[in-house]
Amino acid sequence: MDISQIVAGAYYALVTVFAIGGLGFALATRDRVYGLFALHALSVGALALTFPPIASVANAVEPGHIFWRIMAEGAVLMSTGLMIFHLVLRSTPRAVQIGLATVFPAVNLISAASYYWTEEPIILAVNSGMMLLVLLGITATLIWRMTHGSREAAVLTVALAPLIGVGALAAVIETLQRPSLEFYAEGMLLGFGFELICVCAMLAIRVQRAMKERDRAFSEAMRAQKDAETDTLTGLPNRRALERVFTQDADDYDALAIVDCDHFKAINDRYGHAAGDDVLRIVGASLSRSTAFAARIGGEEFVLLLRGGDWVDQVERLRRQLSHDIGRSLSDLSVKVTLSAGAAAIRKGCNLQPAMHEADAALYAAKAAGRNRLHIADQPPLSKAA
Ligand code: GH3
Ligand code: MG
Ligand code: MG
Repeated sequence: MDISQIVAGAYYALVTVFAIGGLGFALATRDRVYGLFALHALSVGALALTFPPIASVANAVEPGHIFWRIMAEGAVLMSTGLMIFHLVLRSTPRAVQIGLATVFPAVNLISAASYYWTEEPIILAVNSGMMLLVLLGITATLIWRMTHGSREAAVLTVALAPLIGVGALAAVIETLQRPSLEFYAEGMLLGFGFELICVCAMLAIRVQRAMKERDRAFSEAMRAQKDAETDTLTGLPNRRALERVFTQDADDYDALAIVDCDHFKAINDRYGHAAGDDVLRIVGASLSRSTAFAARIGGEEFVLLLRGGDWVDQVERLRRQLSHDIGRSLSDLSVKVTLSAGAAAIRKGCNLQPAMHEADAALYAAKAAGRNRLHIADQPPLSKAA
């Protein structure tokens, strides 16, 4: 195996990996630029087939076959142009993109076809002159964007510099109908290899940035959801959170209880609204330590979702614990703050509304029976707490 075979093999391995990788990323991220990169890699592969060092190894296209060379050059320029426009001129109007996508291959096709038929060297000169204009356009665009702070334009300028240099020199020579540039093919192949590696590195950084951006947006959305579902005074989940949890996991819970501070209005009236807030905060802190799911659904009312066959005992223990915690933390309140509770078993497939309605009716019964007690739906009132 000689060196040109190894070079040709490596070249096509590179082009294939870039084409498949680009296509994969385009499908995964729905970002067109990776698809354009894949198209670019494929057209570079096609163009390389027309250059002597690879054409002779691959035995594919007759070396120097000018028709295919011109066609492939058109495809390379089109994909490069589109990729550049997409990366450095994000707001390029669609009409310009479609124009770019059609103008290069169309003009190339015409000049290649006429050359094929007439074999007039002037056609090649016109084609080369057009290439020169395109290269000038690409260079001017990159420099313009680079001076406006585009990092992509800076990377692309470096990546394309060898290619533009060799390509422009060859185009000038051909336009002037002078003998072809020596080592043109080798220069272009090396230039394309360098360019593909640079652009691939830039796109890899772009993928990484896009993934970071997606993670940030996800955590922001999670934080926004948490904020929207949190009661600001107590830090407990609010009614919205209760609705979501019940809709998602109602079958995981055995009972729903509503706990309500007794004569809370009187506490506010006697000790001030700030003291009332303190009571609510203590209830919130105490409930957040319990194993039950607890939410503040408004005012001085809290909903508990409980698991386990002993849920009646759990609610009663919590109710007493809350009263105890308030008394201990707010020792300057001269009255004992008590709480009443109503609870109901959650029936399979039951919605939040009827479950709340049953627990609320039980709470009403507990209040009516003298407060400071738990009432279970469909059961006689439990005795008043000690
Ligand atoms: P009951 O024993 O029948 O439950 O009587 P209550 O006074 O606790 O009930 P009522 O519904 O008459 O009054 C509730 C009071 O809770 C009225 C309202 O001013 C007060 N309140 C509602 N939200 C807050 C709050 O965030 N902070 C404070 N400090 N008070 C609140
Ligand atoms: Mg109350
Ligand atoms: Mg109330």
